[in-house]
Amino acid sequence: MTGESRIERIYEQVVRRNPGEVEFHQAVKEVIETLGPVLVKHPEYADQKIIERICEPERQIIFRVPWVDDRGEVQIDRGFRVQFNSVLGPYKGGLRFHPSVYLGIIKFLGFEQIFKNALTGMPIGGAKGGSDFDPKNRSDAEVMRFCQSFMTELHRHLGEYTDVPAGDIGVGAREIGYLFGQYKRMTNRYESAVLTGKSPHWGGSLVRREATGYGTVYFVDEMLKARGQSIEGHSCVVSGSGNVAIYAMEKLQRLRGSVIACSDSGGVIYHKSGIDLDLVKRLKEVERRRIAEYAQHHRDAKYIPGGSIWDIPCEIALPCATQNELDEAAARRLVANGCLAVAEGANMPTTPAGVRVFQEAGIAYGPGKAANAGGVATSALEMQQNASRDTWSFEHTEERLQEIMSGIHRNCHEAAEEFGSPGNYVLGANIVGFRRVAEAMLAFGVI
Ligand code: NDP
Repeated sequence: MTGESRIERIYEQVVRRNPGEVEFHQAVKEVIETLGPVLVKHPEYADQKIIERICEPERQIIFRVPWVDDRGEVQIDRGFRVQFNSVLGPYKGGLRFHPSVYLGIIKFLGFEQIFKNALTGMPIGGAKGGSDFDPKNRSDAEVMRFCQSFMTELHRHLGEYTDVPAGDIGVGAREIGYLFGQYKRMTNRYESAVLTGKSPHWGGSLVRREATGYGTVYFVDEMLKARGQSIEGHSCVVSGSGNVAIYAMEKLQRLRGSVIACSDSGGVIYHKSGIDLDLVKRLKEVERRRIAEYAQHHRDAKYIPGGSIWDIPCEIALPCATQNELDEAAARRLVANGCLAVAEGANMPTTPAGVRVFQEAGIAYGPGKAANAGGVATSALEMQQNASRDTWSFEHTEERLQEIMSGIHRNCHEAAEEFGSPGNYVLGANIVGFRRVAEAMLAFGVI
């Protein structure tokens, strides 16, 4: 059987065994369709059914999360943790709280996380979790009660050598604090390294908050440098206005890019003279408001309710909100408007047809599992600091992050060349991540 036909068969089996989980199917397809040449070079991977084993999570946990809201009404949400692969280290990957969460979303994210974590070169396996709980318009007390109920079940599956969650959409420092407090209470252990993304006041790492956004910008900078270009002086748009988007904008501005637009799920802010990042931080991080309010503070900024940020002409585009937010039509508009580079701060934000448009146009395109790996890499640095009971300076930690991102870029770039597809970071990232996991799986035998 050829590499390609074997992969086709594996994909059909994944779809059959995981009905209705369309995002998971999409993530699997995007990875395994690039692995045909690797199976040809390494027939032992096919003999030992490495791909088939990777596509099946090691463990999936689904649980009830009951809690009482401020009006005294009982609420029931659903919790998930999918522990996908632990050959490289303890399971590692964020928790997402968003009403769209179901098993297929958590499995797509967990699957991506295996390869992303492998790409960082650090000793971490892949997992993801979360809940369909919607934190919007909930009081602090409600969020706390939800987090306590969620951790009351989840704690038995975690541990610094077992599984170490972090944040994702809807889970920031506030939620990590409540989750850690409940873990400590349930276990009677101050086990700092059981969660990352903690506040630097009590065991968190400096730069973790900034890491995913900064890392994405380092990655785009490396892609541009490989083409003799740079960020300086280029117009940039960044979708979203959450954790990843805010710190991507900050680093773009520091590297003298001109950030002209950002968004949330309600609409887009277009501010030609440059986004006022202090205002975005205040509105989103402190006051938890909608991005629409930005326009009330700047008369020359325009709010476009329900608009597409990809309609705004730019040279650098960073999707930093959510999956499948950039489709084929949007990709065509970006290319037609002269976009030079796209790097994904979010996970799988570009649809497969959108990715093809970027690749055919020959623009620099950095897939999420490479471009946004700075977040989990800095989580691993947080685990290192916790293990040695040490605290590193901002400068030192950021330097480590920058080295890691440039190493990821280099490895992806070289693998793409080795497999005859120079400049194809999708292929490069999948192959580098997969080979590292596959080698460990071979060494461990059939487990
Ligand atoms: P946040 O919750 O901080 O921010 C999410 C942002 O995306 C908000 O502006 C939100 O708008 C917008 N958004 C979320 N869902 C949707 C949707 N369905 N449609 C349109 N807009 C939406 O999350 P993060 O910044 O942490 O995460 C953003 C992306 O980055 C995700 O894909 C995540 O998986 C990925 N990522 C995050 C990492 C991290 O370290 N945090 C690490 C690696 C990847 P609104 O408030 O209106 O919902």
